Amino acid sequence: MVVGRLAPSPTGSLHLGNVRTFLWAWLSARSQGGRVILRIEDLETNRVKPGACERLVEELAWLGFDWDEGPVRQTERRDRYRALFPKLDAYPCACSRADLEQAAPHEGDAEPRYPGTCREHPPPVARSWRFRVEPGVLAFDDLLSGRHEIDVAGTVGDFVVAKSPDDPAYQFAVVADDIAMGVTEVVRGDDLIPSTARQILLYRKLGAPVPAYGHVPLVVGPDGKRLAKRHGDGRISTYRARGVAPERVIGAVARWSGFDVTAARPADLVGRWSWDRPRERVVLTPDRFRL
Ligand code: GLU
Repeated sequence: MVVGRLAPSPTGSLHLGNVRTFLWAWLSARSQGGRVILRIEDLETNRVKPGACERLVEELAWLGFDWDEGPVRQTERRDRYRALFPKLDAYPCACSRADLEQAAPHEGDAEPRYPGTCREHPPPVARSWRFRVEPGVLAFDDLLSGRHEIDVAGTVGDFVVAKSPDDPAYQFAVVADDIAMGVTEVVRGDDLIPSTARQILLYRKLGAPVPAYGHVPLVVGPDGKRLAKRHGDGRISTYRARGVAPERVIGAVARWSGFDVTAARPADLVGRWSWDRPRERVVLTPDRFRL
């Protein structure tokens, strides 16, 4: 049985970009007769506004998505992360981001490579916990884009899996949940391709089968950057407030995904789904915001 999931973070509003990713994730699972889980990734509590989770769930339902399990919130699952954490054999690290920048200058907003400062000499006070990465290239096959080869040790090195044993980081929480929920297919934005390699290392460490991966090309602004406010207002709540029908919203993101439709419910597209889809990122020019 195929099990897919929608894993929104309630840290920003649902917009055209996330909806396109969720449409692919949902269609891929449903077209195989699979189950869908809705998991709200709300661990970064300081970035989650009151009511954001409820709004997200309500908007997804309005768009015509459904799910068999959930919404499950990650903040309700802290006991599980805590119980699994020792299995990672992570080690404490006292380095701050500033320390790392100094030790290994890097370009742009890429994560600096961790030089292994605390690996052999555990500090008395930990700022984070890191996973030991052995040298070597890791390969996986993506449902859309084929083979990827990533050198985790050479790019980020030992990466952070928790701030403390009680406070898991994204990489660990996602893998812990996907294993516990029996997820067999992970479909998400292509900005997470580097994370996939890290997460596969965690599956191996935890002795769990690795799911299939499909990374959806992001919707970006004309500057090539991930969709943001300065590009225009692509929030689902705005279209809805203006009286745009949900079928128009799904129709637009489906059209940018190679479907020949103007208005549709997700369920209308199930029989027409395959992974033979455009591989380019979608550039949201101002005219494309008008639905
Ligand atoms: N919560 C993440 C996001 O909204 C997705 C994480 C995942 O699918 O693994 O980008």
